[in-house]
Amino acid sequence: MKRASCACGQLSISLVGEPRYVLACHCRECQKATGSLFGVSTYWSKESVSGITGESTQFTRRTDSGGTLTHHFCSTCGGRVYRYASFYPAGIGVAYGGFDTTDLPRPTDEYWTQRRHDRCGFTYPIVQHVGDD
Ligand SMILES: [Zn+2]
Ligand SMILES: [Zn+2]
Repeated sequence: MKRASCACGQLSISLVGEPRYVLACHCRECQKATGSLFGVSTYWSKESVSGITGESTQFTRRTDSGGTLTHHFCSTCGGRVYRYASFYPAGIGVAYGGFDTTDLPRPTDEYWTQRRHDRCGFTYPIVQHVGDD
């Protein structure tokens, strides 16, 4: 069982198994959403979710490819914990940084490298995508 939560601990999600995908994204929205250089997300099948506790506030935005992402963040501290993406309707995305464990698989792909900050990258071979496809 793996658990991810916000900074104050009010909102959390528990999952079993392993993520299907682990992706990094350098798009502007991920930079603004995380307040960091890039976002890193884990994507799991919905069957992996064993529980969600706490109250979340939702924010839905359009992606550049015309899909939607609905973020669920903590109503108290604002930490983004999980999201539903139209490009992966059978799954759920969970913010990498929210996990209490440090043994998650590393990202296999990075997206929107055209928007990557200078000298910001991975130190191992990773599949690169200029945009989101
Ligand atoms: Zn919180
Ligand atoms: Zn992004």
